[in-house]
Amino acid sequence: MITIRQLNDPTLYKKSKSFNPDSVFDLVKIKEQISLLKQTTSQYPTSAGMAAVQCAEISEPYRVFILGNNHISNEYKQQLAARGIVMPREKIIINPEIAMRYGEPRSVDQQCFSVCGPLRGQLPFYKFIGVKYLTLDDNDNVVEVEEDLTNEIEGRIFQHEYLHVEGMTYLNLIINQLTFAQLETIIAIIKGIKGNPIDKPEPVNNLMTIFQWDANGIGFEALALEKALRHTQADSLNGFSQLVESALVAKQEKYNHNLFCLNPIGLKQASEWDAVVTVTSKDEFAGPGFGA
Ligand SMILES: [Zn+2]
Repeated sequence: MITIRQLNDPTLYKKSKSFNPDSVFDLVKIKEQISLLKQTTSQYPTSAGMAAVQCAEISEPYRVFILGNNHISNEYKQQLAARGIVMPREKIIINPEIAMRYGEPRSVDQQCFSVCGPLRGQLPFYKFIGVKYLTLDDNDNVVEVEEDLTNEIEGRIFQHEYLHVEGMTYLNLIINQLTFAQLETIIAIIKGIKGNPIDKPEPVNNLMTIFQWDANGIGFEALALEKALRHTQADSLNGFSQLVESALVAKQEKYNHNLFCLNPIGLKQASEWDAVVTVTSKDEFAGPGFGA
């Protein structure tokens, strides 16, 4: 079974390297990575996409991901259909760019295979985007593609995987938008969990959308977060804890120096994301997402 990097793995927070289509070396290497990615989606048949950087067997990931999954079971296909979702057929996306964003962003539930457990949160995503990327044709020739993703599901997966190749997870964007008080609350919750591990925490039957956006920013319920974190796999929990602590340090430095937000793990400056944080109503929330 191919291992998927969890939140405590520093590689997840490095920008993946660009693929050079004129380099024979790059072509050989990226084919190996694509082959591993295809194996990964076959081993994780509920994944909706997978970036090279998530795959623990790829030490120097290119900016490449698979969008979609050709291996979903009929049962899962029916579950998705009940939610109005059709899993896209696999596309290989190399050197992705988001060239256009149409309309207003809406909150979309995120679930990530690098966050093992029931924890989920929302990010404001655009319903439709225009994208550019390279792909390989049937003869393994590199071809350029420029298209509008009018399939909303493809657009969601693309935006999620794009964060991965940029060296981020959706939780980085959420955590970086939290207030001092919220970050301190989370640190206290994690301390409580580590100081009082419970053998069999209260069962969780469903994925839990903990971090929700509204006009005031991001909200969460402390008790629900504790419950979700008690069911989060240790590597993911440790990584989550580190992200929260880094964000708190960054906020303190920002406050102390009244400068820009420090960037302890290579995140984009907060201002670059301010533009997308404009969700106005919970009515806009899209249906449940799925993992990528
Ligand atoms: Zn992910």
